[in-house]
Amino acid sequence: MLNRDKFFIDGAWVAPSGSETIEVHNAGNGEVMGRVPLGDEKDVERAVAAARAALEGWSNTPPDSRSQFLEKISAGLKARADELARLIAQEVGMPIKLSARIQAGLPIANFSNYSRLLKDFKFEERVGNSLVVREPVGVVGAITPWNYPLHQITLKVAPALAAGCTVVLKPSEVAPFNAFVLAEVIEAAGLPKGVFNLVTGTGAQAGEALVRHPGVDMISFTGSTRAGKRISELAAQQVKRVALELGGKSASVVLDDADLAAAVKGTVNGCYLNSGQTCTALTRLLVPQSRYEEAAKLAGEAAKSFTVGDPLAESTRLGPLSSKAQLERVRGYIKRGVEEGAELVAGGAEPPEGAPAGGYYVRATVFGKVKNSMTIAQEEIFGPVLAIIPYKDEDDAIRIANDSPYGLAGAVWSKDDARAQRVARRIRAGQVDVNGGAFNMNAPFGGFKQSGHGREAGVYGLEEFLEYKSLQLKG
Ligand code: NAD
Repeated sequence: MLNRDKFFIDGAWVAPSGSETIEVHNAGNGEVMGRVPLGDEKDVERAVAAARAALEGWSNTPPDSRSQFLEKISAGLKARADELARLIAQEVGMPIKLSARIQAGLPIANFSNYSRLLKDFKFEERVGNSLVVREPVGVVGAITPWNYPLHQITLKVAPALAAGCTVVLKPSEVAPFNAFVLAEVIEAAGLPKGVFNLVTGTGAQAGEALVRHPGVDMISFTGSTRAGKRISELAAQQVKRVALELGGKSASVVLDDADLAAAVKGTVNGCYLNSGQTCTALTRLLVPQSRYEEAAKLAGEAAKSFTVGDPLAESTRLGPLSSKAQLERVRGYIKRGVEEGAELVAGGAEPPEGAPAGGYYVRATVFGKVKNSMTIAQEEIFGPVLAIIPYKDEDDAIRIANDSPYGLAGAVWSKDDARAQRVARRIRAGQVDVNGGAFNMNAPFGGFKQSGHGREAGVYGLEEFLEYKSLQLKG
């Protein structure tokens, strides 16, 4: 049993103001795997005070020195990579091999990447008679979700620290243990006290206290569009800077000349990654009407190859969902798809056969003949549920792809790369994969429309945490 009973504030492990705790469940078997403190306004107050007090010192620490701290944090995480992979596989449900590569691997790479980027980053430039300098925005409140918990924390904490900001982190209450490991690593790296602070709790209490706090200059949030809207409203009262990474309902557009087998396989993999609990999941597969039957057959076969099982078992391709609430939500959407008249090609709402007892398992599901107006094509399901939507021609495909409140990601497939790029440019989304192009940690990551605003990753992510200042010089 993992029991954490302290917060990391002002460089020390301190007792929370109250005594209530939050239970964290193991996604693979539903059992309580441990508890973390339920932080409140007083805990947030302490953490923000520590971050404010540390700001001047940290923002004046030379970038080279900040860069060395980031490299140390990367090394510290690397030394605990196996522990992190296992921990997150249980908190979130991602199969262990992928958890090692993605959930533990990406944070290690990103801390190191920001260490590198910082060495070359130009914090000032001359523009005519002005010296334009870039200063840290100040104290950052980072609020993060559970699906790629440490990765999402890292995409805020690493660039914020690189920029010279200090941080109060409020991680997801569903998968908080990895954040404690990060705090221990940061402590061991010898970061000055108060530069990084950790408080756990719920969104409604600790989260909102952080957003409302006048001592916080910026909120960097990743999570649902619902919470993002609420945070924007609260932050607007103080004209606080807000960066939002929200949901998605991304379309994978297969053009009529594409290699259908490769496109369907790539889309199904992109849809089912982390059991569909991926904000950029390719959940809508758009195929030419004339190739629909073939596409549905391929997708159904691909879905069947996703063996459901314990996330810690090496043979598992589809782990459980992260929580009971998620399980009920996803099953509800599958029932809704059937009710709305979509064709069930694979999977369904019943529990998968042979799945370990107590865990939050769901079948790899494919719906065919989906209309884009259906609930399963409009709302983010956050489970392994693919909707295949037939289209008439290229313009129709682009219209359907863009007919969504979201604009986070997408994909285009064609034998003709130039054509694929032309179509990709017409999709209103923050990142579009062309013919299965790989994820790039230096490319900007973020959304159009209700998928949020602001960009994370690479140098673009660093710039989010900086203010411009112009000094008009006489000579
Ligand atoms: P969520 O919005 O319920 O919670 C996210 C975080 O916000 C948690 O730490 C939660 O405690 C906190 N929170 C909730 N309500 C709050 C409030 N009113 N004030 C302050 N904090 C609040 O989301 P979730 O269920 O944890 O995560 C899933 C969602 O995250 C999905 O919609 C997914 O698409 C989105 N997501 C987006 C990205 C991206 O980069 N665009 C990445 C991952 C996940």
